[in-house]
Amino acid sequence: MTETEAQRQKEIQQAEELLFTGPQALGFVKGLFQGHFVSDWVMPYPRIAAAEQPEIDQTLGELRKFLDEHLDPAEIDRQADIPRDVIDGLGRVGVLGATAPKEVGGRGFSQMANCKILEEIGSRCASTSVFVNAHHSIGIRALLLFGTTEQKQKWLPKLVTGEWLGAFALTEPEAGSDAANVQMTATPSEDGSHYILNGEKRYITNAAIGQVLTVMARTPVPGKPGKDAITAFLVTPDMPGFEMLEARMPKMGIRGTVTSRFALQNVKVPKENILGPLGKGLKVALTVLDFGRTTFGACCTGGAKTCLKLAVAIRESNSTKRSVTFIS
Ligand SMILES: Cc1cc2nc3c(=O)[nH]c(=O)nc-3n(C[C@H](O)[C@H](O)[C@H](O)COP(=O)(O)OP(=O)(O)OC[C@H]3O[C@@H](n4cnc5c(N)ncnc54)[C@H](O)[C@@H]3O)c2cc1C
Repeated sequence: MTETEAQRQKEIQQAEELLFTGPQALGFVKGLFQGHFVSDWVMPYPRIAAAEQPEIDQTLGELRKFLDEHLDPAEIDRQADIPRDVIDGLGRVGVLGATAPKEVGGRGFSQMANCKILEEIGSRCASTSVFVNAHHSIGIRALLLFGTTEQKQKWLPKLVTGEWLGAFALTEPEAGSDAANVQMTATPSEDGSHYILNGEKRYITNAAIGQVLTVMARTPVPGKPGKDAITAFLVTPDMPGFEMLEARMPKMGIRGTVTSRFALQNVKVPKENILGPLGKGLKVALTVLDFGRTTFGACCTGGAKTCLKLAVAIRESNSTKRSVTFIS
């Protein structure tokens, strides 16, 4: 087993532990809030495994070349759209399946290597970095972590190349910060072959351009009348009853990303599309978001480094002393 594969197995094991066991280990930032410096997480400072370094260096080189030649962040912002050829190019460079196993066409990179990729994209275009995150860091993450072998073989090969795009749909009008308050329902059919989904989702990145959505809905708990719990489902927009209410909600920032609102009306979803254990969807969602947070953080670090570089450049320019004082 390669070092990267071992690391991936460890991530899956940690995610499973989060799903099936009780209290979690105290994380670094949560620790700070509680007055503890949990040094295990940050010391020694985590580094990319030596065996992975040459491959990630090569990928970063190809990515930089592609972004230099094809990415126009100002145009993306003006047009409020990321051109399809940029998405295809990111797929070719391997960004859209960076941490997916090589057996399904991914690059098999560690989460840390993926953070380097997202930092690079975030340093150039916030919209593009959020698009990649929505697709990879949260859109296909539940499949990577909790998908069965059959689900992975069926869905991942086209998702890791970008031929299909992924989205992650948790948020609803009544379920934002209060993620557990999902109102979308998934009622089992009488013969148990499928679930019937009803409800509305909003603020879902990539929903209107995606082909595979991980959707959280409330299912009855078997054997416990009146009790329900959240379950994750794989939903495709071609399922009858899927209605796109607002494909591209207007925004003031990251205008290039597609943020959508959609409704499901009696959408029949086969039981084979349940992702992770029945009734464990909230844990699936929160685990996925934990992975997403690290790469979203990397995007912001990239953006912050660019801001710093620009500020330094202005500081070094004699002709703009007044703006320097303001920025300082
Ligand atoms: C650009 C964009 C992309 C997004 N992409 C996705 C996506 O791909 N998938 C997805 O599922 N979701 C997505 N979201 C949704 C995002 O996760 C939610 O916006 C977020 O969870 C906050 O929920 P909300 O917008 O309903 O705000 P609310 O939960 O209504 O919060 C509004 C304000 O009230 C505060 N607040 C809430 N509860 C309390 C409380 N109990 N006490 C004190 N203050 C409180 C909040 O801090 C916030 O300031 C996206 C959102 C945006 C803006």
